[in-house]
Amino acid sequence: MIWNQNKETMSREQMRALQGKRLHKVVSYVYHNVPFYRNRLQQMDITPDDIRSIDDIVKLPYTTKQDLRDNYPFGLQAAPQSEIIRIHASSGTTGNPTIVGYTRKDIEIWSECMARCLTAYGVTRDDIMSIAYGYGLFTGGLGAHYGVETLGAAAVPASTGNTEKHVRLINDLGITAIACTPSYALHLAETMEKMGIDKKSLKLRVGAFGAEPWTENMRTEIQQRLGLKGYNIYGLSEIMGPCVSYECSEQDGSHINEDHFFPEVIDPDTLEPLPYGSTGELVFTTLTKEGMPLLRYRTRDLCTLYQDQCACGRTSVKMGRILGRSDDMLIIRGINVFPSQVESVILSMKECAPRYLLIVEREGNLDTLTVQVEVRQEYFAQGFDTFEPIFKLEKELGAKLRSVLSISAKVQVKAPGTLERSQGKSKFVIDKRVLK
Ligand code: ADP
Ligand code: ZN
Repeated sequence: MIWNQNKETMSREQMRALQGKRLHKVVSYVYHNVPFYRNRLQQMDITPDDIRSIDDIVKLPYTTKQDLRDNYPFGLQAAPQSEIIRIHASSGTTGNPTIVGYTRKDIEIWSECMARCLTAYGVTRDDIMSIAYGYGLFTGGLGAHYGVETLGAAAVPASTGNTEKHVRLINDLGITAIACTPSYALHLAETMEKMGIDKKSLKLRVGAFGAEPWTENMRTEIQQRLGLKGYNIYGLSEIMGPCVSYECSEQDGSHINEDHFFPEVIDPDTLEPLPYGSTGELVFTTLTKEGMPLLRYRTRDLCTLYQDQCACGRTSVKMGRILGRSDDMLIIRGINVFPSQVESVILSMKECAPRYLLIVEREGNLDTLTVQVEVRQEYFAQGFDTFEPIFKLEKELGAKLRSVLSISAKVQVKAPGTLERSQGKSKFVIDKRVLK
């Protein structure tokens, strides 16, 4: 089944013509409504009339996460505030979070893209889908939720946490589809097994897994342990949220909703666009967004674009799995964590030395973060060599980290000089998670 036959199976010529028309429109829109873009374009001596076809996209400037931060909170918003009906924020970034405002039309397009995606997974009006992405500022929960409702299936807003209760719901309600991170899916499987619930007694058959990198091996394991077919879903809040791209029945690469999000892959160092088939940094231009349209937004996600004759009948360009990121961001339990955020919290505590180590591990199927930090020599000499003050400091640091990172971390305060010193460049992060 295909949700939008016309858009999802367009010929290449038709798609390119549509993209060209929409690109001209969005460039003209930001030129007239976003001073940031008008200045950039004027500096480059470009007017909207210079953008006539989709090939002209290479003339346009890139937009970076830093540009969003510099213009926090609403500097890149193009629509008047009265047109904005929803505001999301990125999960966890250094400094200011990224704020994204959506108009009613944006929410409609987002919901349609989600409905396309769910239809490609084989979800129909008869399904009951639980959404175990976080509801809140994060785009995962509400984004998926609106898609399920648009499609006409029944949405169960389970959100994250309380896994046992969720397993019972899956069992009692006969839930047939689930949306969550792949690591949470494994955690769910583990909990189910511990509770003695046999997957054969459940009706689960479809999983929409994304928001973090995962592998074919993980897919095999999740499918086997939950007794469903697991599909990749990709997206980012700056561009829309989940469902910028989605897998189809072939489970082989994700179709991009390219009538709304135009994809490019570039060399992250030279910024030169790369041909299909090359691995590089993924860049998106929003072609229809009203709230916060972005030109050539650098996602920092590394992957490959390609076009094949997909057996599902869709003609859209596909992207491979995300192979990594061109920056140092960690994704822990679906939440972005920058080492520099941890550093700034540590440095705000007078007792802590600027010597720390982040250890990311996977216990069972849940990511854990341990922060080891050394106490300053002078405090150590004044009683911080005993249990009580250390324990108090660990608790205080833990609470601060939790409020800044939005996830909890295990804190271990160490004696001065105990953390390993490296030759040359210091190592602040050890990521022990192995994606099998
Ligand atoms: P931000 O916090 O920057 O707003 P989001 O919380 O919207 O970002 O998460 C977007 C990021 O999550 C993507 O840029 C990508 O790195 C990662 N991501 C999302 N879906 C997938 C997926 N299916 N596979 C790998 N990584 C993904
Ligand atoms: Zn396909």
